[in-house]
Amino acid sequence: MVEPVPAAIALGSNLGDRRAAIHYALAALRRTPGVDVVSVSSFHETAPVGGVPQGPYLNAAASLETAMPPRDLLAALHAIERSFGRDRAREQRWGPRTLDLDLILYADAVINEPGLTVPHPRAHERLFVLDPLAEVAPDLVFPTLGRTVRDLRDALRPRD
Ligand code: ADP
Ligand code: MG
Repeated sequence: MVEPVPAAIALGSNLGDRRAAIHYALAALRRTPGVDVVSVSSFHETAPVGGVPQGPYLNAAASLETAMPPRDLLAALHAIERSFGRDRAREQRWGPRTLDLDLILYADAVINEPGLTVPHPRAHERLFVLDPLAEVAPDLVFPTLGRTVRDLRDALRPRD
């Protein structure tokens, strides 16, 4: 364990009872030793990206304080996905999933290891991540870009 640091995760679901899936994940996180759920965004209905035909997602974000090292935190997220019944072996890449939990930011860490990239490599270009994340952690900085969540969200948001 390390000193608690801020971290941010994204939650998504587009199969079955999507709202129940996200509530399940949040409850499981709250029970996880070494994880403090600080703030949870509202739930956003979003269109799927990635080209695979599938139903709309429900997305949310949460800010955490955690004493878990990043790899352990990702393992905990994957364990929650599995305990909810997600079976990666039967999935298509970027296809529908019952529950997807991604580690977006972990303090100012930059990690490029097999199976773990932080900041999440696609988060900064995804409004379905940045919109909810801006509700709970607008001032967190992507250390690879030197830009805040709010700034990246504003840059992507369509203007009218
Ligand atoms: P995605 O979330 O990109 O749609 P998956 O949930 O299927 O796709 O994850 C694919 C792989 O990405 C996982 O095996 C996981 O180990 C890896 N991965 C690497 N970095 C991260 C991260 N920061 N958060 C979540 N998964 C990650
Ligand atoms: Mg994922």
